[in-house]
Amino acid sequence: MKIVVLKFGGTSVGTIDKIKKVAKIIREYKKKKFKIIVVSSAMSGVTNSLIKKSNYISENFSDSEYDVLVSSGEQVACSLIAARLIHMGIRSRSWLSWQIPITTIGPHKNSKIDQINKIKITKYLKEGGIPVVAGFQGINYNERVSTIGRGGSDATAIMLARFFKAERCIIYTDVEGVYTTDPNKLNKAKKIKVISYEEMLEMSSLGAKVMQPVSIQDARLNRINIEVKSSFVNKPGTLITKKSNIGYNKIITGISSTQNDSKVTLVGVKDKPGVAASIFKPLSENSINVDMVVQNISANGKETDLTFTVKTEDLNKTKKIIKNNRIINFRKILFEKEVSKISIIGVGMVTTPGVTFRMFQALANKKINIQVISTSEIKISVLVDKKNVNKALTALHREFKLDK
Ligand code: ADP
Ligand code: ASP
Ligand code: MG
Repeated sequence: MKIVVLKFGGTSVGTIDKIKKVAKIIREYKKKKFKIIVVSSAMSGVTNSLIKKSNYISENFSDSEYDVLVSSGEQVACSLIAARLIHMGIRSRSWLSWQIPITTIGPHKNSKIDQINKIKITKYLKEGGIPVVAGFQGINYNERVSTIGRGGSDATAIMLARFFKAERCIIYTDVEGVYTTDPNKLNKAKKIKVISYEEMLEMSSLGAKVMQPVSIQDARLNRINIEVKSSFVNKPGTLITKKSNIGYNKIITGISSTQNDSKVTLVGVKDKPGVAASIFKPLSENSINVDMVVQNISANGKETDLTFTVKTEDLNKTKKIIKNNRIINFRKILFEKEVSKISIIGVGMVTTPGVTFRMFQALANKKINIQVISTSEIKISVLVDKKNVNKALTALHREFKLDK
């Protein structure tokens, strides 16, 4: 069977008119004799509004009920798509994850797809039907509804492509593909024709929400090529694939920025061995991911300042944990939400010296102060004041010739 997985994001199914357009795209693949598995997200805004409702009910809304609540948006979108296909004379039906089932492991709100049972969907495909599968949701081994993290419909699509050995996996979204940076933030951003899993993983983990990071990891492990394209205009998009399929001519492939980082500074921490571990251990035990860290060398050998970043959604929890931590001594604690992490990403930097200098110089020329730095083999990240994000994106985009 020549199978194609077509995933439609929230913005692609955001209105009734858009759903009608999506049904037409699906019909085109049917005409080309593909067996089609459709995956849909919730209509745009729906998941956010469900999360808001949970917050009004309780600050400690039960995780398992959260999953039942927020996964409901996908059910609506899938039924609307399937019903539109039926209206067009095409055999179709919606499939919720428990009906397939798509089984997940791991904690509520952040589960991972473990298995997809192929039996019923395969039979349905052979009968000529088009299954419209609810993204983002699963059922765990305790038979409770689960969800797989924000933006998780991407991962549902990749895993369906893997289990059904699909020929193609196409992610339809509201932009024409993956760009050198968010095209909604910088109009000089350029569409990237082809990008490696490694670079895409860094770009999405560092803020490019066009693809969910977990889905890229799944695609990389299973060598699944992903095409990202627009559901509004019929133009070639971006191919996400393995490095060896790509010829590199640029040092930097893309730039990402974040909206939701916060900075925590402990001033005057008693400097002794093990102090950093004492600060970070209770945070990690509470599943708080500490990202960038910088510790100043103490001038007198007794005290130091320690700065780190966490996701803004974890900031209140972080405050509580640090304040209740009896093992560490410090003079003052400072919190700042108005920061953003800007990262340049590119396999090309591995073999090119001087990239760090060029990044810092380009920011310095625009009088942008760098607060914290972190690097890996293929990325350099800096923390800057949020008000400087656009200026920084523009300067770096030009410096690394991504405008061309
Ligand atoms: P969907 O609803 O289709 O899942 P998302 O909102 O999750 O769509 O992702 C698409 C959005 O990702 C775009 O509208 C764009 O603003 C944003 N984005 C961020 N970085 C990039 C990038 N480098 N390339 C393309 N889009 C990006
Ligand atoms: N609807 C879910 C979300 O908003 C999943 C997705 O969009 O992929 O996070
Ligand atoms: Mg998305």
